[in-house]
Amino acid sequence: MTLPLAARVSRLGVEGAFDVLARARALEAQGRNIIHLEIGEPDFETPPHVIEAGKRALDEGWTHYGPTQGDPELRAAIAQRTAATHGITVDPAEICITPGAKPVLFFSMLALVEPDDEVIYPNPGFPIYESLIRFCRATPVPVPLVESRGFSFDLDILRDKLSPRTRLIILNSPQNPTGGVIPAADIRALADLICDRDLMVLSDEIYARIYFGDEPPLSIASLPGMQRKTIICDGFSKLYAMTGWRLGYGIMPVPLIEAVNKLMVNSNSCTASFTQRAGIAALTGPQDSCDQMVAEFRRRRDAFCAGLNTIQGFRCPIPDGAFYAFPNITGTGRRSKELADALLQEAGVACLSGTAFGDYGEGYLRFSIANSLPRLMEAVERIKQVVR
Ligand code: PLP
Repeated sequence: MTLPLAARVSRLGVEGAFDVLARARALEAQGRNIIHLEIGEPDFETPPHVIEAGKRALDEGWTHYGPTQGDPELRAAIAQRTAATHGITVDPAEICITPGAKPVLFFSMLALVEPDDEVIYPNPGFPIYESLIRFCRATPVPVPLVESRGFSFDLDILRDKLSPRTRLIILNSPQNPTGGVIPAADIRALADLICDRDLMVLSDEIYARIYFGDEPPLSIASLPGMQRKTIICDGFSKLYAMTGWRLGYGIMPVPLIEAVNKLMVNSNSCTASFTQRAGIAALTGPQDSCDQMVAEFRRRRDAFCAGLNTIQGFRCPIPDGAFYAFPNITGTGRRSKELADALLQEAGVACLSGTAFGDYGEGYLRFSIANSLPRLMEAVERIKQVVR
């Protein structure tokens, strides 16, 4: 019997990383040695004081339902942190806590976007954006990211894509999959372009503190008049290596918070209480493990990208943030998906085709550098064998 599913489910996309992980694990089960460079998850442990805080919270009885919008103490800590990083005043009433950052993307889009609205988003980009736009029956309007501009957008192209139907613009900096950071001048120019328009910006800042330049990436919410038009999506998954704890947050105007609260009540009720206590420890405790992780990512980035640049047909720009390398492989004469499949099958190197992030990802591969330096360098050698 075929089970008839609601049509809306067919509009949802998936994340290529999980597919490749499953295929890589199947090869491992056959005894193959696989170097995992596919999944976007830090290969570090959650800082010990955060784990301790989580355990203590369980012992203290933080095992019950909590407020839908999130633990007030955690929201206050986030408000304080955001004041320091963004130079803006955030009321804890403008913050909601969610199980991971993804629900902030999902709920804010569900709350804002009507069928036939247009949503501008980066391509190549995090595949969930396009999936959610389609789920909402809105029109996806991709803006290509340009390698020669450090994978920022071309403002003229973006201007052309704006229309009276544009409801939302999604920004992601530092970016998945390219590691690009949008230059502050581009953010300022974009703010000038849209400040008088009736639209919102969804600023996905999950990699905001994983950057390698001298200046932190500029958030559009920091610019005059833009906070009321911006949804900041952030969380603990990447910076505090807490992917499995499921802890994220959104900062947005109160009317939108109220809509997101309703969506939370209808889906999760609340985010896990003890996880949120661990989040308070993460924000208010020592930050040295984050600094060490970023320093290690920088070391790996330098060595791995240099290695990739020695492979015939590869050209790897040096990413300014996040923990991905996104080499241009057009010089190999091969298509991205075909090469990614060959690397997995023949070299045992699991990576993603650039097309897993949209059509403009053709000609690129994405490698996560969340693996040890020796394994990354071994991957370079294995790739060389296949490409030769
Ligand atoms: N946004 C981007 C750009 C990401 O790369 C990810 C995770 O890979 C997320 C959001 C989701 O983060 P979380 O695991 O906290 O839901």
